[in-house]
Amino acid sequence: MKSRSIIFFILLYSLMIFSSCGDTSTSVTDPGGNGEDPDPPPPEFSHTEAPGASNEAFITGREYNQLVLEIQYMPGSKPEPESIENLRTFLEQHLDKDSITISEPVEIPSGNLESYTPGDIRDLEQQYRQQLTEGSTLASYAIFVDGPYQNDNVLGIAYYNTSTAYFSETIQEISGGVGQPSKQIIETTVFNHEFGHLMGLVNNGTDMQDDHHDSSNGAHCTVEECLMYFSVNTSDFFANLFGGSVPVLQDFCVADIEALQ
Ligand SMILES: [Zn+2]
Repeated sequence: MKSRSIIFFILLYSLMIFSSCGDTSTSVTDPGGNGEDPDPPPPEFSHTEAPGASNEAFITGREYNQLVLEIQYMPGSKPEPESIENLRTFLEQHLDKDSITISEPVEIPSGNLESYTPGDIRDLEQQYRQQLTEGSTLASYAIFVDGPYQNDNVLGIAYYNTSTAYFSETIQEISGGVGQPSKQIIETTVFNHEFGHLMGLVNNGTDMQDDHHDSSNGAHCTVEECLMYFSVNTSDFFANLFGGSVPVLQDFCVADIEALQ
């Protein structure tokens, strides 16, 4: 009789352990659950989402009122100071931030590749990126690599929600010669265009106020004069831009951005 009651208590005790474990795991997977928790822990910012996924973080000042941009480049691929200043002007014009800090570009070793795939570039970011989003400061990353993109004429890509890459060799090939636009004009145009993608343009995170989505060409604008026209980040575009000026966001894209602010 005695031993039976001991067994009973052991059983009861193990049941209590199991049920308390169950309770713990329930509350871990569902902390507050319905968004009504008065003081939830801040969610960790992910830097590996798709371009456009952090459109509001870029465009508005509600959650992040400061922006820092880290620029890294491979030997021979340093962007012009003027291009960086032009990017700053563009960002100040379209983002609602109290401060925008672009740090002095930092040289990193060559990737020693014939050409770069998005996978190669993600690996490089993983290896070299220093600044991450913290508190109310959104961090963005830009990398200038010393070779072309895969095997076509692309000059820049947005590859994560805060990250863009630029293909210096291709930019240099099509700039600075007789009848070619300057390197600054090309860099500025491609810089601005890729940041347009981080801002969720076109119809890629940021809702359209009017239909201007060139859906057969990805997240681009149907307006040929717009910064977000599909060919703007390719060498084809610059072949027709004699000396010219940097294209700006046209009304449809500006309206989409302003609707969020
Ligand atoms: Zn584009």
